Amino acid sequence: MGDHLVDAARVLAQLQSPIFTMDGLGYLTSWNLGAQLLYGYSTSEVVGQHVLFLYAQNALHESDADIEEFFQIDDRAVLRVQHCKKSGVNFQAELSLSVLRDDDGHVVCFVGILTELDASLSATDKLNLHASIIANSDQGILITDGNERIVSVNAAFTRITGYSVQEAVGQSTDLLRSGVHDATFRAQVRSALRGAGPWQGEIIGKRKNGELFPQSVSISVVRNDQGVITHAFSIFSDISVLRASEQRMQQLVNYDSLTGLPNRTLFTQLVGQALATARRNNDCCVVIALTLNRFSSVKETLGNDATDELLRQVGQRWRHVLRDEDVLARVGDAEFVAALFSIQKREHSGIVSQKLLAALDLSFDVASHPIHMSARIGIAVFPDDGQDTASLLHYSDVAVKRLPADAVSAYLFYSPEMNQRAKEQWKLEAELRHALVSGELLLHYQPKVSLRSGRIVGAEALIRWLHPQQGMISPGKFIPVAEETGLILDIGNWVLDEACRQIRAWIDRGSQMPPVAVNLSARQFDKHLPSCLQKVLDRHDVPPDRLKLEITESLLMRDPDTVIPIMNELVAMGLALAMDDFGTGYSSLANLKRFPITTLKIDRSFVVGVPNDSNDCAIAQAIVTMGLQLRQEIVAEGIETVEQMDFLRNLGCDQLQGFLFSPGVDADTFERMVCQGDRLDIS
Ligand code: C2E
Ligand code: MG
Ligand code: MG
Repeated sequence: MGDHLVDAARVLAQLQSPIFTMDGLGYLTSWNLGAQLLYGYSTSEVVGQHVLFLYAQNALHESDADIEEFFQIDDRAVLRVQHCKKSGVNFQAELSLSVLRDDDGHVVCFVGILTELDASLSATDKLNLHASIIANSDQGILITDGNERIVSVNAAFTRITGYSVQEAVGQSTDLLRSGVHDATFRAQVRSALRGAGPWQGEIIGKRKNGELFPQSVSISVVRNDQGVITHAFSIFSDISVLRASEQRMQQLVNYDSLTGLPNRTLFTQLVGQALATARRNNDCCVVIALTLNRFSSVKETLGNDATDELLRQVGQRWRHVLRDEDVLARVGDAEFVAALFSIQKREHSGIVSQKLLAALDLSFDVASHPIHMSARIGIAVFPDDGQDTASLLHYSDVAVKRLPADAVSAYLFYSPEMNQRAKEQWKLEAELRHALVSGELLLHYQPKVSLRSGRIVGAEALIRWLHPQQGMISPGKFIPVAEETGLILDIGNWVLDEACRQIRAWIDRGSQMPPVAVNLSARQFDKHLPSCLQKVLDRHDVPPDRLKLEITESLLMRDPDTVIPIMNELVAMGLALAMDDFGTGYSSLANLKRFPITTLKIDRSFVVGVPNDSNDCAIAQAIVTMGLQLRQEIVAEGIETVEQMDFLRNLGCDQLQGFLFSPGVDADTFERMVCQGDRLDIS
């Protein structure tokens, strides 16, 4: 019998079902393998402990009652208990207790057999739970039926949209439509509602009070057993606060809060992008470091508020000097940096720096005090001085520090050679201003000949500068400086006036001269141009058909809505427009139809390779063919050889201009050529 008991105890110990025994007071006396596996406690950890040791913390006060029950049971009892594993996980179990008594009926021990209960819920519990999750969810939930009518919304829906359950149920989802999304986007959302697959994204919704709000939405559908969509639901959260703080973050991260200008972070990012483009296109860019002088003493005198105001005003003035595509940032207390991307020549940044310095000439009105400010500027050039933003910033700063201590308002290039070149430009500008008023500028006339008759049918007026020391300077050298400084406006007016004066003189002498074409800079092309031209024509009493205007393709790239009306006005005045350097810009021939242009001048760069370079030939051919279709008069520029002439004539080109016939000559020579009937040998 005893042996049998020992055997039975061994069997129990090895059983997979969790079994334990305890004495009459509830202290654990044995703990089998199943119990070890379920609870994670070894035998030595539990034997000797009170059975309460196994209970979940939150179940302890209830378990007192259980314990009472233990000791009252006669024979067997089944209890529902909540126990806790060694790992801390609580679980529900059924504890089946039986009392083991000796022959006298005294309690020897209690045997507990545990069955862990399945954690899953009953169908009703599940429904209740789901309903309560939906109702209490922090996210708005909207459920629609197969007809896309709202059948249910939760409290968060009402909180976010402002619509009560009564107002929403029965409506279509258009209730929340903001009207800002395009048809494609709406179709995507709609097809998700119709079961195309789950969709997640951001939608701008509209609240009951009309306010628009960004929401993060996910949409899915519910199908029945047959796979038919019975419902769709969207779960959404209002992310307007998130968006607003994101924007504030962006603002804080990228902009200087005082001046509203970009800060160093954004500057670095923008310049980095621009340098990548410049690298591809072999362009140059310039970084300009600007440091305000005497800043700390100004701050001491003015105090913080007034200094802030001063910095804002400085930022505004400098921003105003620069072009829209340039970047200006504030990177330190009294330190700003600018980056120029649309610079034709690197030395022109010297001219921009002069303008930036000059912008401080007028005093600032801060706290009713006139404050005088000055600055020092250092310039670094990409790619010559540095290849990346950091080194350009560094070298521009080095240049500022290299400025002599007594230089109050000055700029310096990082590279000495650039300083030399900038100085020359600066000198050139001063001399050009002088040239304009002291009669050093003159016009030459280059004949255009007809390929049909060989006769002179027109001329292009080309500006020349007869420099007292340097002799004849070509416009290629000084027109870009004039463009950059704005001097081109005065020069352009002078050219128009001089051309008309000359035309009048020829008329007065009774010479039968062909029309003269004048080059216009894009900067002259504003709304005042027609009236300005009318005045010149009137002043010299020149018929408008004697004058032609050459404009460049870059003009067409500007806003056509402002450019076309001006062109139309000029045409209405009787002036003809020619497109110069055609093919070098980006305008398509088809686009040309929109502009009232009568003549295309094929750029010299395409003529150079004709007739040997097949590329140039193809381009020239395309321009001539399409130009003829558009009924444009075609002029080929820069014809130097008979072969070039023959090729273009065969294409059907009307007119030719080039050294083959004549370079630009002075007015008297040109008059003589026309009157003598000089002809091009076209045999
Ligand atoms: P553009 O309007 O394309 O003028 C034609 C240029 O090609 C002239 O150079 C002319 O001398 C040159 N050229 C003509 N035939 C030949 C040839 O067979 N071979 C070579 N190698 N060159 C030839 P220029 O006079 O040096 O003028 C250069 C540019 O300066 C002009 O190009 C024009 O854009 C600008 N320019 C000239 N005068 C004025 C002006 O009065 N106002 C403005 N805004 N720009 C002007
Ligand atoms: Mg021209
Ligand atoms: Mg040209």
